[in-house]
Amino acid sequence: MLSYSRQLIDEEDIRVVSEVLRSDFLAQGPRVAEFESDLADYTGAKYAVAFNSATSALRAAYSVAGIGEGDAIITSPISFVATSNMFVDLGAIPIWCDVKLDGNINENQIEKLITPNTKAIVPVDFAGKPVEIECIIEIAAKHNLLLIQDASHALGSSVKGKKVGSFADMTIFSFHAIKPITTGEGGAVVTNNEEYAKALRLYRSHGMVKKQLWNSDMVSMGYNLRMTEVAAALGSSQLKKLERFIDTRNEIAAYFDARFESEKLFLTQKIESNTRSSRHLYPIILNPELHCPKEDIFTELQERGLGVQVHYKPIYQNSFYIQKFGRVALPVANDFYLSEISIPCNQTMSMDDAKYVADTLLDVVHKYNHRGCSF
Ligand SMILES: *Cc1c(COP(=O)(O)O)cnc(C)c1O
Repeated sequence: MLSYSRQLIDEEDIRVVSEVLRSDFLAQGPRVAEFESDLADYTGAKYAVAFNSATSALRAAYSVAGIGEGDAIITSPISFVATSNMFVDLGAIPIWCDVKLDGNINENQIEKLITPNTKAIVPVDFAGKPVEIECIIEIAAKHNLLLIQDASHALGSSVKGKKVGSFADMTIFSFHAIKPITTGEGGAVVTNNEEYAKALRLYRSHGMVKKQLWNSDMVSMGYNLRMTEVAAALGSSQLKKLERFIDTRNEIAAYFDARFESEKLFLTQKIESNTRSSRHLYPIILNPELHCPKEDIFTELQERGLGVQVHYKPIYQNSFYIQKFGRVALPVANDFYLSEISIPCNQTMSMDDAKYVADTLLDVVHKYNHRGCSF
């Protein structure tokens, strides 16, 4: 099965991980700090703080930013639930902003959602395509709002040559197994703000600071959200290969773009020439005529070896959110969910694989055109 996304682990990754397993430290050794320094160098942010997942990183970022009871957070509904979950658990209220056909938050609709309770804007770089960050920074600055970017898809993406991670107050990355690079499970916050970096480290590890000898002091509430040494070593090794991973994914994406250029039955995500996408996902947006047979299309693609997936059900459509905040329906986000399929595009694929994906997709989509609903 050709998967919509998949890790690439090589002998060098295995070697560095084995080295850690034979070393003195499996936790709280030098590797996490090394990985953090590698991440800061790569993204161009001053500080990087590693966590055991992006969910933990989001939680820590929201918490040290002072987000709490009654704060309103403007965010994208087309994301993994953790983006909203982690501030909702702190008592904040999600104000979902509609998206555009590329799956990113519609920057032109943010300002009208701002109220005196608004505390932060949390955009998500869908599929690795950077959001309209310059515009969003301007809105955040004008209204004195925090900007926390969920860039779980976008490690290595850039805008005008500047990497995602160097723009927002805090930016979150995920190193889950199938994200742009992997540490198995893992995540990080990058920031240029020293106070945030300090607070994130405390939050990650019991709120404790070392004094002399055996003495330590717990100065604030904290958890154990630490990354292991094994994971961090894998992260540093993977990061060295990220440019190559992204180049491969972009070669496949460019081939798809060319094959699908005149296609009438679906759209693809356009990447502007001054931006680079990590191409974590390659989403297609089906024509509304194909909403109905989407289940059949999805099933047949899987039967023919394409490990497709749908990203995402709008967060507000989950029963937890309906119960807590009532029904929400944003027109483009709703349609996006009916239309989207992520097709295989990952660094383990050959160009022959890419050709098979394109051929099969075109064949299946055209077969179901005008067939209507079967359920
Ligand atoms: C994967 C993902 C997360 C959660 O990442 P984990 O590392 O699995 O906790 C959060 N937000 C987005 C947009 C994601 O894709």
